[in-house]
Amino acid sequence: MSTTSTKLKEVKLYIDGEYVESSSNSLFEVKNPATQEVIAKVHEASYEDVDRACNAARRAFEEGPWRTMTLSERSAKIRRMAEIIMERKDELARLEAEDVGKPYPVALEREIPRAANNLKFFADFMEQKGNESYPMDDEYLNYTRYEPLGVASLITPWNLPFMLTTWKLGPCLAAGNTAVIKPAETTPLTVSLLGEIAKEAGIPDGVVNVIHGFGTESAGEYMTTHPEVDLISFTGETSTGKAIMKNGADTLKKVSFELGGKAANIVFEDANLDKAIPVSIQAAFMNSGQVCLAGSRILVQRSIFDEFVERFKQAASELKVGDPQDAETDMGPVVSEEHYKKVTSYLKIAEEENSTLVYGGKRPDLPEHLKDGYYLEPTIYIQEDPNARICQEEIFGPIVTLIPFDTEEEALEIANNTEYGLNGVIWTDNLQRAHRVSHHVRAGTIWVNCWFVRDLRVPFGGFKKSGVGREGGNSSIEFFTEAKNVCIAL
Ligand code: NAD
Repeated sequence: MSTTSTKLKEVKLYIDGEYVESSSNSLFEVKNPATQEVIAKVHEASYEDVDRACNAARRAFEEGPWRTMTLSERSAKIRRMAEIIMERKDELARLEAEDVGKPYPVALEREIPRAANNLKFFADFMEQKGNESYPMDDEYLNYTRYEPLGVASLITPWNLPFMLTTWKLGPCLAAGNTAVIKPAETTPLTVSLLGEIAKEAGIPDGVVNVIHGFGTESAGEYMTTHPEVDLISFTGETSTGKAIMKNGADTLKKVSFELGGKAANIVFEDANLDKAIPVSIQAAFMNSGQVCLAGSRILVQRSIFDEFVERFKQAASELKVGDPQDAETDMGPVVSEEHYKKVTSYLKIAEEENSTLVYGGKRPDLPEHLKDGYYLEPTIYIQEDPNARICQEEIFGPIVTLIPFDTEEEALEIANNTEYGLNGVIWTDNLQRAHRVSHHVRAGTIWVNCWFVRDLRVPFGGFKKSGVGREGGNSSIEFFTEAKNVCIAL
């Protein structure tokens, strides 16, 4: 399949168990970022549509049977969704590649299976999770129940559309809530199929609703202010998180935010560079650098700096930039024209800040059918000043900065000199240093001698402006439930 063989799709809203058109008859276009070809016309949800979706979710929550069915029955339906996703994984991966511009093998081998696993994991986790109990001598017994909370707004970004939506939907459904989902306006294709997948799996109508639209004064804002919504799980930019928090305040919605990042990837002189370099390349350029967990600030100890730069540059030059549908492609375009402009604006900023260009910095040479795609070469700068904008701002594209340091203290100071705190990466063969530095980097996830390894049971989220709350395992279940204590006199 080639990026040019797509046919125009019509993407409708999924409300109360059926696909419907926008009540305002408003449609917007979605383009393939590798070609600029229009691939879909999407129905934009009006306020009335969002209102219908939220009311349907409320009805499905209050009237059942979703909330009241047995946990094993509910979990079986969620597991069935996971199975259907795996049965349709090729189609979903093709769509994700077409919509986001990510290499098809990455979607097929990693993201779609992970999406299925998000659902399966939380169905299993909820079933296996016991309840706490606190006996008070022989007089009383306390036990804690985790009950569903209500209607959840699930809002996701464009970089990992299907994976991140199921990451929220899994615990939301497993806990017995109902959902109104909105994928990013740039990448709605795969998430729109969750409606039919839920239906086929036997999820009752109204439990899963999928709407489409934009943020401010559009579907996003409506679903975060709507009185029937009890909680909001949002992944996206820090500035959007702030707006959502304000919008949800009047109706006291519970919020969980996974926001931006600017991770330090710290390479000490005793690191195994044979491992550190290929993984740092992944951390820098996977999904064209459009990963919240990207290791976009690479701090390298000065004694190995020159060697690291040479080898890192060589490895970047070996990445194959090209057609996302091609099995050989390592890196596709960035997601949209607007984002391309943002990412490439940093080339000028880097120049103005006297950064040294090590590699990249321009459009790659590509075949004719990709000439309009939003492509940028993997781009590497050296910048000595950690306060420079390219070291501080989330570029969210294939641009990384190498920053030299002399001592462990200096590395920590640079690593923590950011408003973000989502994750950090440490490369060292010194066990004590690995622990010491892990404890001092102010971020929610630290990877030592690895990156992007995920156990769905562990808490995931950000310090500082990288998030509010945690997702994963018990953290997700606590967010999507109300804890109730029952105290019985014995
Ligand atoms: P974004 O904040 O622009 O949009 C995310 C979603 O929010 C979209 O669906 C959008 O339509 C919606 N939205 C926008 N304004 C809104 C409003 N006022 N009210 C309600 N909804 C609104 O983010 P993006 O550009 O799509 O994604 C990139 C960002 O996501 C980066 O900052 C990245 O770091 C972050 N991200 C974080 C994680 C994480 O786990 N921490 C994971 C992936 C991406």
